Amino acid sequence: MIQARSISLKEYNTFHIDVNALYSFFCISEAYAREVIKLSKSEEKKIVVLGGGSNMLFTRDVEDILLIMQNKGIDILNETADNVFVKAAAGEIWDDFVAFCVEHHYGGIENLSLIPGTVGAAPVQNIGAYGVEVKDVIAEVETLDTETGEKRIFKQNDCSFGYRDSIFKNKLKNSCVILSVTFKLSKHPRLELSYGNLNKEISQKEPTVADVREAVIRIRESKLPNPEKCPNAGSFFKNPIISADLYLRLKESYPNLVSYPTEKGKVKAAAGQLIDLCGFKEMKENGVGVHKNQALVLVNYDNADGQSILRFSEKIQAKVFETFGIHIEREVNVY
Ligand code: FAD
Ligand code: NAP
Repeated sequence: MIQARSISLKEYNTFHIDVNALYSFFCISEAYAREVIKLSKSEEKKIVVLGGGSNMLFTRDVEDILLIMQNKGIDILNETADNVFVKAAAGEIWDDFVAFCVEHHYGGIENLSLIPGTVGAAPVQNIGAYGVEVKDVIAEVETLDTETGEKRIFKQNDCSFGYRDSIFKNKLKNSCVILSVTFKLSKHPRLELSYGNLNKEISQKEPTVADVREAVIRIRESKLPNPEKCPNAGSFFKNPIISADLYLRLKESYPNLVSYPTEKGKVKAAAGQLIDLCGFKEMKENGVGVHKNQALVLVNYDNADGQSILRFSEKIQAKVFETFGIHIEREVNVY
């Protein structure tokens, strides 16, 4: 028998916003998720799915049904000479899953070490770091439709993956529960070491996936704020993709403006640099501020509420637009 609980979400989101969820359910299996979907129909309530809350900003109490994913299980489905197909339940902790794969010498996600959150959320924004995106190793995503309860399997090509984006973050937001993800990993991985100082961080002549994982963890721990000590949700904004023409025009006024190649005729600018150039470096206001090492990260320094963080983020967006004519899109999901 499933039972709703009324809980504070302070420990269920990495901004540590203290809102209440009045009808929360801890999902431990597919059968459990089906029961909650049935209940949502009879109670005429929407379902909102939560993983580790590391990409969420809560601005009010949750009056919808909150389904917190805690189903577990990692299964090796099959192996070929070169690849292994591994299915992981949505409620598995993402970094535990990366550690499992690295221990078994399965390559493909070692650069994504130490990203907070759950396996089920990884396809939602196509998590990426240090030159790797999870889309490249996703074989399929198993979901339940929150309207009909029907099961649907999305193959990699059905997921509309983009830069920090997918069909689950857009068209299907809050209309499906991801139950599990199947990954196609490599037994003979080609390591991706070209990003930033990753190469320099690795001293081994012939590095393994374990060496890459350790290097990524060292870099991240030295630079990025730990949400347990410094509540945050990672990058609050996405890096904007702008036209090469606009970039060249801006470079006349800002000669140090960085860019990275992307699709033809366009470049990726660094949102953190744009925010710094607008004068927000280390700025704090109403308990919320910009992190000193990475302006893309907003920090809840002093028990700010979600509305204050949202307002501060909108002020940053407006100033960046006024200064550069560039809209920096939010990466974090706001409720
Ligand atoms: P949540 O925050 O709980 O949810 C995020 C969204 O996904 C919500 O819309 C939610 O409804 C939906 N969702 C979650 N689970 C499911 C499910 N099972 N079914 C359907 N919908 C679901 N991200 C990167 O891409 N790269 C990074 O390097 C990175 N570094 C970070 C570093 C820090 C310190 C922090 C705090 C965050 C970082 N992030 C990064 C952002 C975040 O960790 C990822 O987006 C992560 O995948 C979110 O997982 P979660 O389980 O916490 O999702
Ligand atoms: P960084 O290395 O200081 O780089 C700053 C920005 O420049 C990054 O956002 C990155 O874009 C871009 N960049 C740097 N080198 C690049 C290259 N060789 N090719 C393409 N783009 C490049 O960034 P950081 O803050 O320390 O983060 C390191 C990695 O972890 C990045 O990949 C970042 O995305 C990821 N990360 C993500 C989050 C999140 O919440 N989404 C939080 C922390 C870290 P990309 O972001 O597109 O890679």
